[in-house]
Amino acid sequence: MKTVLEERKSSICGNRDRGISCERESVSGAVSQRACVYCGARVVLNPITDAYHIVHGPIGCASYTWDIRGSLTSGADTFRNSFSTDLRETDIVFGGAKKLTAAIDELMEKTKPSPKLIFIFATCIVGVIGDDVDAVCRSAEAKYGIRVIPVKAPGFAGTKSLGYRLACDAIMNLIRPHAKQHKPQKRFGVNILGDFNLAGEMWIIRGYLEQIGVPVISTITGDSSYKTLLQAPSATLNIVQCAGSSAYLAERMESEFGIKSVKVSFFGVEDTVNSLLNIAEALGRQEIMEKAQKFAEEQALQVLPIIEKYKPHLKGKKAAIFVGGGFKAISLIRQFNELGMEAVVVGTQTGKKDEYEVINSLVNSDAIVLDDANPAELERFMTEKQADILVGGVKERPLAYKLGLAFCDHNHERKHPLAGFEGIENFVKEIYTSINSPVWKYA
Ligand code: SF4
Repeated sequence: MKTVLEERKSSICGNRDRGISCERESVSGAVSQRACVYCGARVVLNPITDAYHIVHGPIGCASYTWDIRGSLTSGADTFRNSFSTDLRETDIVFGGAKKLTAAIDELMEKTKPSPKLIFIFATCIVGVIGDDVDAVCRSAEAKYGIRVIPVKAPGFAGTKSLGYRLACDAIMNLIRPHAKQHKPQKRFGVNILGDFNLAGEMWIIRGYLEQIGVPVISTITGDSSYKTLLQAPSATLNIVQCAGSSAYLAERMESEFGIKSVKVSFFGVEDTVNSLLNIAEALGRQEIMEKAQKFAEEQALQVLPIIEKYKPHLKGKKAAIFVGGGFKAISLIRQFNELGMEAVVVGTQTGKKDEYEVINSLVNSDAIVLDDANPAELERFMTEKQADILVGGVKERPLAYKLGLAFCDHNHERKHPLAGFEGIENFVKEIYTSINSPVWKYA
């Protein structure tokens, strides 16, 4: 295996009995496709529409994550800006805390409406020089009477999953003191966790829930705001869409606010229908279950003819999948199966052991399943397995195009929704158009 490092072999599952090595740090020098700890934290917190994000570190960290998500807003668009302390050599020698204080003061002075919530992301170099970020945040909170929440996320401290965890801790840091002080009354309704409103997907899911009689109390973090996040402890149920980033938050909310949770996925007919029914079941109201069954049946009937229309053109094609979390990969395998396609390479950045077990049970025994891949491995296995299309994110796009492969963006940048019944139609059309584009003849 020329393109596979010895230390990486246990993370590539050819032998199903051995299981896969995952949930661990990347192998040094392997040029992982994973994003860093800071990026994991930033992508979860970024969609809070009226929050300010100061990246305390070199400007490169801020530009790496500036406006990288197609999260839409129905309110403020503050989140689309990025602020940085732009640390230089002298700051690294003499410390950057004063520069951070000055950056907060400048935001308070120059931005309108005045910030209510600021996240301070401390990146790699701050982890090395040891600025007292907590003290700066405490003193800014006391001076301005707003929330200034530290997210100490040096990229080298672990994996992207640690960044998710730090973001969840930051959200708890925001909502816990308010809940403790105001003791919110429980209301019938759900929070949507782990949906970032990419291309308005959260609005679609919210619409479904409202149609079956389920009020949405708070969304974390797509199209959320400082005010709506504080309402989250009142909910009776958390529905967890991106489990990789938000299952930990759901656990913390269950232990601190007594909110049970249910994992869902709104990608593909099977998972969308099952998710609606599972939510209804978890809420335990007969009238909601009846509405969910009727709604899901009607919607599925509308979308099935679209799948049938494109299926003859896609049947037998092979797909490679490389996405952030295992839950999404599972939905995508099912979705390709619905189209008569086969997933021949499946990988994730942060998949968990139990998710890889489900993935292995869904693919053929000769499929390649791999954790935390690098470009050389993806290239080798996609070529070897003769994939017709790669589904991935912004970092995988150039890889597919260089190989002359069709590509479907299922991550940050996309401009059309792929979730829910509406998303199924977009997904099928995109897969069909991309695979059958005449351009691949010339690649
Ligand atoms: S936190 Fe570290 S790894 Fe992440 S972008 Fe900044 S310098 Fe790079």
